[in-house]
Amino acid sequence: MSSELQVVHSEILECMKCDLHKNRTNAVPGEGPPDARIMFVGEGPGQNEDEQGRPFVGAAGKFLTELLESIGLKRCDVFITNIVKCRPPNNRAPRKSEIEACNPYLQSQIRLINPRIVCALGTPAITTLMGDEYSASRFHGKPFAKGKVTFLPMYHPAAALYDASLKETIFHDFQILKKLSENEKALHPDAPKVVESNEKKQTLEKWV
Ligand code: URA
Ligand code: SF4
Repeated sequence: MSSELQVVHSEILECMKCDLHKNRTNAVPGEGPPDARIMFVGEGPGQNEDEQGRPFVGAAGKFLTELLESIGLKRCDVFITNIVKCRPPNNRAPRKSEIEACNPYLQSQIRLINPRIVCALGTPAITTLMGDEYSASRFHGKPFAKGKVTFLPMYHPAAALYDASLKETIFHDFQILKKLSENEKALHPDAPKVVESNEKKQTLEKWV
């Protein structure tokens, strides 16, 4: 791991910037190659993740592994993390203040890993990375350019796990990821840019 990324991860392990540190067993910085081309960002650690200090190791993680394998990737090919690094009590949704406190770690990870594609899993990850107007239901499978990075919003695997139609949708969205990742520049030239709110509506119409 690059030493800078290592420093960020050791800061996370000792972080007390929000109340989520009080109930954690282990903080979960994330894992994967420090130069991964593809990064996944989920919502936050659950019970298994909190116990093991590793991301996506429970039922949702098993499904994520299956989704990766469906496009010829292994877990160790990609970097996997979350918008908050400590488990919210009883798996409640992370609060805005907690997401904001934790976001600098996520931004540092994106800067240091410098991935081509960032998959945002579920609406909390999508709004954190792309803006409040975005959601999984409207924007899943639609890639966006932001600087050098292509963001690909997706449903959260935990949401899709027990819902047959969402399951089909998320497998389909992984096919989009496969196509993007086969393209050197990741992004289809016609894909819209992430833009400021007043421009946003028009730019997005053709993709919705
Ligand atoms: N769900 C998430 O969003 N993240 C994990 O790490 C595990 C389950
Ligand atoms: Fe720090 Fe993030 Fe954990 Fe809050 S969730 S204590 S900000 S590492």
